[in-house]
Amino acid sequence: MSLLTIQENVPLAPLTTLQVGGAARYFAELKREDEVQEAAQFAKTRDLPLFVLGGGSNLVVADSGWPGLVLKIAIGGIATPATSDATGNTVLFSVGAGVNWDDFVAQTIVQNCAGVECLSGIPGSVGGTPVQNVGAYGQEVAATIESVRAFDLKQERIVVLPKPACGFRYRTSIFNTTERGRYIILRVNYRLKRGGAPSLKYADLQKYFAENDGERVAEKKTPPSLAEVREAVREIRRSKGMLLVPGDDDCRSAGSFFKNPVLTEEQFKELAERAESKGLEIPSYPALNAQRKVAAAWLVEHSGFSKGYAAGAAGISHKHALALINRGAAKASDIVRLKDEIQQGVQEAWGIQLEPEPVFVGF
Ligand SMILES: Cc1cc2nc3c(=O)[nH]c(=O)nc-3n(C[C@H](O)[C@H](O)[C@H](O)COP(=O)(O)OP(=O)(O)OC[C@H]3O[C@@H](n4cnc5c(N)ncnc54)[C@H](O)[C@@H]3O)c2cc1C
Repeated sequence: MSLLTIQENVPLAPLTTLQVGGAARYFAELKREDEVQEAAQFAKTRDLPLFVLGGGSNLVVADSGWPGLVLKIAIGGIATPATSDATGNTVLFSVGAGVNWDDFVAQTIVQNCAGVECLSGIPGSVGGTPVQNVGAYGQEVAATIESVRAFDLKQERIVVLPKPACGFRYRTSIFNTTERGRYIILRVNYRLKRGGAPSLKYADLQKYFAENDGERVAEKKTPPSLAEVREAVREIRRSKGMLLVPGDDDCRSAGSFFKNPVLTEEQFKELAERAESKGLEIPSYPALNAQRKVAAAWLVEHSGFSKGYAAGAAGISHKHALALINRGAAKASDIVRLKDEIQQGVQEAWGIQLEPEPVFVGF
């Protein structure tokens, strides 16, 4: 018996935060795990390319749309099976890939569990988080993911990938590199720490509490709670246009459009010297293997692209130099033109090729 409803020519722009791009030739919503085989079969028998859609918050859809099947993941449910930790200090959350990520984070705070509080306010679905190992304010999902349950299109069966098999690194995993397009993520299992202290590693967060909450913390000498850290992160994100706020035009984006470049010591030295010759100091942070991560936003702003920059219907957010926005009626081609212009400008000014972060669909 057929469980899936397949629609035709469904516009994709409204299903993405950037709101550009054409239609899906075929479209279906996957609400239950047992529908996945049928969806995969539909695409396979017709030789259609399959694209898995989550919350659409990290996508640039081509104006020509998607020529095959778009499968929107709508599997819900947040379950907390009995903890396997003998001391009961951790809680395993098994979360449907279609659950809104921030709703899940809110739920973990209610249950007094630490591990994802700094990832509050990130748009998109739970299933989207392992794909680029979502991270912000000093946390990334790789630290709490225990396993990923997915349909393997190659073996045509459901598999459970333990964390080491996911190959998590900065903004990457097997899902967006070596095994791109192979898995339909159905559930993600996160292990969080019950009663754990919130993470306050990030300078922006420390500054926020120093400025806004100094008195309380000084008087009571208590660190901020998980709920307070969640609120602080959401507040900082709001000020940068990185929280989806209805009616805020700066939110019509795909978040940060470029990754922070990770440079070898030698490359970084060269860049720092170039900056110094212009009387500038480039913000950077230590990365793995003695490398340095450089702030892409700084490179963009110091290559002639300031916040609020407009290029026809495309532009740069008024609040964050890394967010390319749809100013109203932009097409995907307008966004791509601006992306190219920025990449070229940064290359000319600094000799660095910025790498886009969103996924390009149908190009
Ligand atoms: C305002 C704003 C702020 C943002 N801030 C951050 C941030 O701080 N940190 C950060 O890391 N990202 C950030 N992002 C990017 C984005 O929110 C994340 O990458 C998010 O996890 C994408 O999830 P999604 O469900 O929207 O995925 P989509 O955009 O729908 O898809 C992204 C990719 O994941 C794949 N995918 C999605 N779901 C599944 C699934 N179930 N199975 C298999 N593949 C799947 C898609 O095929 C696609 O390749 C931001 C975006 C916006 C708009």
